[in-house]
Amino acid sequence: MGELVYEIGPRLYVNLTNRCTNNCTFCIRRTGPTVAGANLWLDGEPPAEDYIRAIPHPERYEEVVFCGYGEPLLRLDALIVVARHVKEHSETPVRVDTNGQANLYHGRNILPDLVGVVDAFSISLNAQDNETYQKLSRPTFGERAYPAVLAFAREAVRLFPKVTLTVVDVPGVDVEACRRIAESMGAGFRVREYLDSGDRYLEERGGDRRGAGRRGGGDRERRTRVPDVVIRRLVLYLRILDELDLVDGDAYISSQDLGDRAGVSPAQVRKDLASFGEFGKQGVGYNARYLREELRSILNLHQRVGVAVIGVGELGTALARYISRRAGRGERYPFHVAALFDTDPRKVGQTVDPGLEILPAERLAEEIGKRGVDIAIITVPASAAQGVADVCVEAGVKAILNFAPVKLFVPDDVRVHYSDVSLELQHLAYYLS
Ligand code: SF4
Repeated sequence: MGELVYEIGPRLYVNLTNRCTNNCTFCIRRTGPTVAGANLWLDGEPPAEDYIRAIPHPERYEEVVFCGYGEPLLRLDALIVVARHVKEHSETPVRVDTNGQANLYHGRNILPDLVGVVDAFSISLNAQDNETYQKLSRPTFGERAYPAVLAFAREAVRLFPKVTLTVVDVPGVDVEACRRIAESMGAGFRVREYLDSGDRYLEERGGDRRGAGRRGGGDRERRTRVPDVVIRRLVLYLRILDELDLVDGDAYISSQDLGDRAGVSPAQVRKDLASFGEFGKQGVGYNARYLREELRSILNLHQRVGVAVIGVGELGTALARYISRRAGRGERYPFHVAALFDTDPRKVGQTVDPGLEILPAERLAEEIGKRGVDIAIITVPASAAQGVADVCVEAGVKAILNFAPVKLFVPDDVRVHYSDVSLELQHLAYYLS
């Protein structure tokens, strides 16, 4: 279980949820759950009482800030209970750091509910216009999100004494235009520092850089705790949601419906999804579009995934073409062919599709890092597979799809999936008589 609360300097931070209606390109959620030495990944959503027990002395802090691994206002009721506890037992001011989409999410103006229990808001403006916002924050609510953030900020300024709009200083953000938006509303303005060339920002949350790899170590540990069979079902749920015609952004799907389509019980659906947070509303079901985006994010499919094919025979060629052509169709397909390798000098330098040149296998180690290879597909003969896997692992690959008919020995933190057509055919043959 991650930390419910964590301290940075004189402030206490309250971590209510893992969920968020954005998927910002610069968000710490994309790399790992560790902030200032605290693991913020919650295994569920603890009740407000647990937070109250975790804050016995609110008077000791300069400020209590609702700001954790997700969007705190998604848990409005819990936030109010905890903030009220702080107010009743201290004079410590309460601040909420938010993406400003709570009114859209709850379908009503929730700000009056917070008068008297919240003193200040820090609202992520993130961009000077809707187009930039879509690119940087990738909201679940699509085009409706940015106008909702602006309306939320205006309403917050009307009701609360201290409202600050923030941006992260990343390419594409016109900081001065954002400042003008804040000033026109009568809100404060702050630029948050962007620290890495990669994906994360840290503000006063702290300067801890542990787990700053492309996919952080803590995140990996948490992921390996979820049984693989659950992950397989999540992939199936995502495919079902992808196949639904979600023209209506407010369409809901029940666990019964999702379970029927997936061939599992509704209780199983609820249990699987609960491993990653609370996505539904009791008696209503899941917002289908929101759930789809959350599943994409959980499965790491919201970002580009580089694939290397090693062994460009008939199978390797077919796989490379399939991935590359699907990626080229412009649909939301996250995989792309980052590199192709073969030992045969007659193949090296040839292309299997425009832009897909076969590289010599000797360059495997140096090219994997350079080309952003996340998954290695091994389609070499069995005798060569272990050697190829060793080089891939040494170069940092953490996921391998092995078509060679041989078991691979890899470190515990490397995942290998096997696809053995001969074995499957033999298995199926048993059922012919
Ligand atoms: S709004 Fe905040 S928590 Fe949500 S994805 Fe963006 S940066 Fe992360």
